[in-house]
Amino acid sequence: MTVTALGLPSVLKPAARGAAGEAPREGPLIDTFGRVATDLRVSLTDRCNLRCTYCMPAEGLDWLPDDRLLSPEELTRLLRVAVTRLGITNVRFTGGEPLLARDLEHIVAATAALVPRPEIALTTNGLGLKHRAEALAAAGLDRVNVSLDTVDAARFAAITRRDRLADVLAGLRSAQRAGLGPVKVNAVLDPDTGREDVVALLRYCVEHGYQLRVIEQMPLDAGHQWRRGQALSAEDILTALSHHFDLTPDPRPRGSAPAQLWQVDGGPASVGVIASVSQAFCAACDRTRLTADGQVRNCLFATTETDLRSLLRDGADDAALEAAWRSAMWSKAAGHGINDPGFVQPERPMSAIGG
Ligand code: SAM
Ligand code: SF4
Repeated sequence: MTVTALGLPSVLKPAARGAAGEAPREGPLIDTFGRVATDLRVSLTDRCNLRCTYCMPAEGLDWLPDDRLLSPEELTRLLRVAVTRLGITNVRFTGGEPLLARDLEHIVAATAALVPRPEIALTTNGLGLKHRAEALAAAGLDRVNVSLDTVDAARFAAITRRDRLADVLAGLRSAQRAGLGPVKVNAVLDPDTGREDVVALLRYCVEHGYQLRVIEQMPLDAGHQWRRGQALSAEDILTALSHHFDLTPDPRPRGSAPAQLWQVDGGPASVGVIASVSQAFCAACDRTRLTADGQVRNCLFATTETDLRSLLRDGADDAALEAAWRSAMWSKAAGHGINDPGFVQPERPMSAIGG
């Protein structure tokens, strides 16, 4: 199977493709295509205080019941297994809205105490970050990505269904002041207003020293309303920006980073465009995911999960948890398949997987 990638290996290694047998018992967290997962995305909750139209319905969702959520102790144990036995070097906390997890500072501190210490990042909508940025930095958080799709207050309210732009901007400033940089801004653009929004967003980010990352909208909305061709593509986004800025490809090697970087007006400011749909980068994927209810997902778009919570509560030792995680990753598909005719959207929406 061919996976197109922007500036990345475009074909998965045929020699390793579909290797038979069981997952290796030691060494890196590898799949049958030879990709190694070193980046763990941990969802801390499926709840959220915004209702972004491309993610959640206006009325919210049926939240996971408390007894199915991992406790901080259970999560910390799985993080230890991931870092010390599976070679995870980067941990990103997300959700739902991870700042709604009251134990976040405690979980960050426990992660920072692991040896070897992983890089620790947070993806947040920024509400309340103003009050917690300092404590999170003190606990060991290294960086934040704050999601912001427009700097126009009325459009922000229309997209997120809440009038909270000022809180997000305050959160960004506090993150910068607390040293949680480089502070990145993640934007998913509205199909109607996005071409305008992205220009003002980039101006705002350049002015304040934030790095903008624009992400193509993916079929992960709770209402299954995503339609091919409706969302703005990377090409649409770059065309809109190039009417206002001089964009030149960033010469730095991209590695497994999903964003293709462009220097803005000769640099040093840059903007990243993440073409998750139109130019998938699955061939270079280095991610593994853990949901708030303790399920390992080997891909955002996986239709199966591996239940570590039940194993853990049934008394499994670290070796058994490690083996189950390895086996979950071993069966990772070559690509997300969004562009295949038989594509099926996963049951869980983005808010319950962890973006
Ligand atoms: N609530 C936090 C936030 O918004 O940053 C963390 C969770 S949110 C699910 C993580 C990221 O996923 C956000 O940057 C959001 O814009 C993005 N996202 C949500 N739904 C998406 C979709 N359908 N397609 C692409 N990105 C999406
Ligand atoms: Fe909440 Fe983040 Fe989803 Fe928006 S994108 S509804 S902030 S989880």
